[in-house]
Amino acid sequence: MSAVDLVIHGGTLVTPEAVFRASIAVREGRIALIGAEDLMPKAAARLDAQGLHILPGLVDVHVHLREPGMTAKEDWASGTAAAAAGGVTTVLDMPNTVPPTASVAALQQKLSLAAAKAHVDFGAYALLAEDSLAQLEALKDAGAIGFKLYMGSSTGDLPIPSDGAILEGFETIARLGLRCAVHAENGGVIARREARLKAAGRADALAHLASRPEVAEEEALARALAFARVTGARLHIAHVSAERSLPLIRAAKADGVDVTAETCPQYLLLTAEAMRASGGQRLRVNPPLRAPRNQDPLWRALTEGTVDLIATDHAPHLPVEKSAARVWDCACGLPGLETLLPLLLTEVAEGRLALTDLPRLTAQNPSRAFGLYPQKGALSIGSDADFALVDLNRSGQITASGLKTRAGWTPFEGRAVMGAVAMTLVRGRVVMRDGEIIGPKGWGQALRPAMPNPAPRNPQLALPAILSLDNIPF
Ligand SMILES: [Zn+2]
Repeated sequence: MSAVDLVIHGGTLVTPEAVFRASIAVREGRIALIGAEDLMPKAAARLDAQGLHILPGLVDVHVHLREPGMTAKEDWASGTAAAAAGGVTTVLDMPNTVPPTASVAALQQKLSLAAAKAHVDFGAYALLAEDSLAQLEALKDAGAIGFKLYMGSSTGDLPIPSDGAILEGFETIARLGLRCAVHAENGGVIARREARLKAAGRADALAHLASRPEVAEEEALARALAFARVTGARLHIAHVSAERSLPLIRAAKADGVDVTAETCPQYLLLTAEAMRASGGQRLRVNPPLRAPRNQDPLWRALTEGTVDLIATDHAPHLPVEKSAARVWDCACGLPGLETLLPLLLTEVAEGRLALTDLPRLTAQNPSRAFGLYPQKGALSIGSDADFALVDLNRSGQITASGLKTRAGWTPFEGRAVMGAVAMTLVRGRVVMRDGEIIGPKGWGQALRPAMPNPAPRNPQLALPAILSLDNIPF
């Protein structure tokens, strides 16, 4: 074999199947060879990974990098620096920016902002909105990684589409084949309960939880799955937080619905108990932190595959936006890109997760869900040379100082962790070493999804088909 650009030697590779010592050769940004050191070709550069474990770079399918429009909270440079610091080499950005990513022009604007600033590779979701249905196909052609549907309110206060528009939108995306991430909370339930709580003078942290009960998640999820079942739309259920959601997802999968699901560290590691403490209102997030009884079922769902992956829902706001006395005045969302991997490594150290679970839940399954596998998410020949090099034995404490996100705080402040990200590589280039960002802005590239062929169900019953027929089928 001719010379390669880089050989990483001395490290221990972690895949969903095995943990093994090997060297990795990289050529033109891709993995060229994995094997014994004495088989490695001559390399222009060598990287010593002695004492480190090498994971496929993490693929976070749920981040809010806030640009355009809210760059005081985060932008593509700060948000992807946080990603690189956390071993995350691919981020998929949500469309609730200003303007929302609901038109081809807005998508193109976001992708060019990202291309100029990103340290890691990226994709951008387009919004499935009441008035964007006619543009979904053009949004796909313009490079959307998938779609996002808000069934309940969140940052940006985007209008929630009607059920009719959701069903029609699903008919369209079933034909397009891209996956639609769903924020499954019933907007009507939330609006009424929040108004009633406010009118009663409640503004304590747990009033937020009361305004968004578990049944709001369960009902919206059931509705989205029913629409997916009849149309063949591919769904991704964002931030599953409640035990009652799990049987619905399990049944839909058993029924052949192409649905993936995520949960987030905040639902696995924090509970509503934490909102009782002083300052608890800054833990306001949607869906809310829930009763402790939800946690064990969520962990089990990760092991058995009902929940496919872990994402951060990195949703930065400034400390001043999180510190209002009334919970209703605190912005919703938590930062998480930099703390994800240390927190999960700690769970590995404590025996709650196997080391081999990490690449499955944070790289392989996320990239598969969005048509990026095996370009992303794999330690395989031909895959992009995206790596998180971690030290399993480095203990520490999570603290906001030193974080790259503009959020300036973390819900995990003071938490002891076992395991640290030592180095991050994106397409063969070191972008972070020992907490320092050393890759240039603009190294990150836009990703195009390669989804399996669309598999619409009942296309003869879909609105566009029906509208042009003389005799309506039944
Ligand atoms: Zn989100």
